[in-house]
Amino acid sequence: MDFRFTDEQETFRSDVKKFIETTLTEDFWRSQEASEGERSSPKFSQMAAEAGWLAVAWPEQYGGAGLSYTEQMIYMEEMAEVGAPQEHHRRAVQQVGPSIILFGNEDQKTEYLPQIAKGELSFAMGLSEPDAGSDLAAANTRAVKDGDFYTVNGQKKWTSGAHYSDFLWTVVRTDPNAPKHRGLSMLIIPLDAEGVTVEPILDMQGEHHFNKVHFEDVKVPTKNIVGEENRGWYVNASTMDFERSGIARIASLRRALKQATSAHQNPQSGQSSNVKRTQLAELSVATKVTELLAYRVVSHQAAGLIPNYEVSITKLLASEVDQAIHNLHVGIDGLFGNLSFSKWAESAGQTASKGSLRTSANGYISAIPGTIAQGSSEIQRNVIATRGLGLPRG
Ligand SMILES: Cc1cc2nc3c(=O)[nH]c(=O)nc-3n(C[C@H](O)[C@H](O)[C@H](O)COP(=O)(O)OP(=O)(O)OC[C@H]3O[C@@H](n4cnc5c(N)ncnc54)[C@H](O)[C@@H]3O)c2cc1C
Repeated sequence: MDFRFTDEQETFRSDVKKFIETTLTEDFWRSQEASEGERSSPKFSQMAAEAGWLAVAWPEQYGGAGLSYTEQMIYMEEMAEVGAPQEHHRRAVQQVGPSIILFGNEDQKTEYLPQIAKGELSFAMGLSEPDAGSDLAAANTRAVKDGDFYTVNGQKKWTSGAHYSDFLWTVVRTDPNAPKHRGLSMLIIPLDAEGVTVEPILDMQGEHHFNKVHFEDVKVPTKNIVGEENRGWYVNASTMDFERSGIARIASLRRALKQATSAHQNPQSGQSSNVKRTQLAELSVATKVTELLAYRVVSHQAAGLIPNYEVSITKLLASEVDQAIHNLHVGIDGLFGNLSFSKWAESAGQTASKGSLRTSANGYISAIPGTIAQGSSEIQRNVIATRGLGLPRG
């Protein structure tokens, strides 16, 4: 593959950088702290949409910029580099919209796509359940057809962002008698529908990121089914395929590495050593390798190929290197590495991240779910072993 970007792509990158400089100002971050928090900002999503950046790789007829996967990757890389708030629109733009373009009917395209491209609609992903995670085909939230409606009962778990989203992209069981994969459908459920309850789950830092979503006799119009009934497994497989480069993860890795390196260079740190310097060098190399693997996935996509086990390699490596970098950073900060959400962080030499008082301890804890979310490391290793290396299934 060719690792260079074209002149047009470099110009695109500098335009994105300029947009970031003019929008993500100190004032913006201050207002974020006072309102929605760092991750989700309808205001930022709408500013990006007005500038024409939001749905970079969507066709223009659906409100996208009509550019390629490479430009989409550049956009996401730059946004992740500065920690721009993407959560309000990310799942809708990167996963739901492309699935509707592929499987949705004309009414669904008209109803959802323009609003998503304008940053006006937010989706959460309702896949995992208490007894269905790695084995998603075990999903058991029931949808029973009754005239023009499905009646939905059951529960989803670990649903990121359901508390601020408009809709849930939901895997439901429509045929309990069919083999596991064949009885599932994909249903769009409004999160304000009667009978839907969103119950917070606090993560290890006490933060509210994901939820349980309960359905009790929820009436959902049959027109909300995406693709054919009982073919939801295949719709979902494509949904998960759309954002495969993991480039945002790589950009966060680089950020984490930069912070750990600057902590090591900080004379207040007191915990710098030749061993840690060598570890930083090793992790820089690992970060670069992960970055190149992510570019390889994008170059496959840009060439019209469908990347496969390559995605698992990138995800596995990125999440594990991320944990190693944060672990090292906590060690570099020494005793101050025990502080979390502390106003003493910066004065102690820790690098609190922009717009918040998060410390290296917070970064370390945040990195832990990275090897579980979007497919655990064991599942990624299974994929690499069977599809990549051609080993038999155990
Ligand atoms: C931060 C975060 C955000 C998330 N957001 C969402 C979301 O928005 N929407 C959503 O639907 N879900 C979400 N999830 C759920 C996530 O997809 C699941 O946690 C994940 O797929 C693992 O499923 P599980 O938790 O049920 O664990 P299980 O599948 O029960 O796995 C338990 C353990 O067994 C191992 N294991 C399971 N099967 C195998 C196998 N075949 N071979 C080897 N080892 C195996 C796993 O690796 C793991 O260590 C999120 C999770 C996290 C951590």
